[in-house]
Amino acid sequence: MTFGEFELVSLSDGFVGFDGGAMFGVVPKPLWERRAPADARNRIRLGMRPLLVRSDRQTVLIDAGIGGKMSAKEQDIYAIDRSPSLERSLAAAGVAASEIDVVIATHLHFDHVGGLTTRGADDRILPVFPGARHVIRRGEWEDATHPHERNRASYLAENFAPLAEAGVVDFVDSDGEVVPGISVWRTGGHTHHHQLVKIESGGKTAVFVADLIPTIAHVDPPWIMGYDLYPMDTLAYKKPFLREAIAREYVIFFEHDPAIAAGVIREQGSRLTVEPVRV
Ligand SMILES: [Zn+2]
Repeated sequence: MTFGEFELVSLSDGFVGFDGGAMFGVVPKPLWERRAPADARNRIRLGMRPLLVRSDRQTVLIDAGIGGKMSAKEQDIYAIDRSPSLERSLAAAGVAASEIDVVIATHLHFDHVGGLTTRGADDRILPVFPGARHVIRRGEWEDATHPHERNRASYLAENFAPLAEAGVVDFVDSDGEVVPGISVWRTGGHTHHHQLVKIESGGKTAVFVADLIPTIAHVDPPWIMGYDLYPMDTLAYKKPFLREAIAREYVIFFEHDPAIAAGVIREQGSRLTVEPVRV
């Protein structure tokens, strides 16, 4: 998809199955299962869709999926299906790992940054994009490296500690541009320092919302994940964001939607709908 000076390529690191109840928080199953059918173990199928943003100047990767380091047991628990993998989808886009100049992480949960590191032949874990500057929110790094009982299962050090060891992390403390035309904005909610990414060019805006609105089923304000550490912060950010997105016809990228990579949110009476955009 051409987007002003940028080319946006929606990538895939396959699918993951998370508990449907946890994905929809306080929404009762009879309502959510119409939008996201559960399997026999109550899991719903979710996509993992990193985004590639290319311009004449730079090649940027936003998030990196779950990667290939999960154990057989974890692959079973989370129904991991990497038949389309990040490696293959980057190759299909004609991009070598060495060509990625900048990686932006929305947050450090394993289904978003697992693909940033890989297990080498000698069992050492190494960055997949050693030539890239990895833009990570400093507060998120602090939380990920000092986990507590409630978030420990989401933060696996093997996904991010090797980046610091390799000296490729570029910590950011505030909102704003990290690459010309590409900016990060803290949303909080899902994690305290969760951030979304805006891509602006030629008067148009695309937004990679990550876990603020993980699928099109989560567009309605109260459809908030049970996984969110601060659900009222999610709601407080989401409501004005939705108004802005509708008014300005943002192209929204839904990182976890199993079928729709991107769309424009429309208001039809009291209902919010998503008009898919081909990417
Ligand atoms: Zn996620």
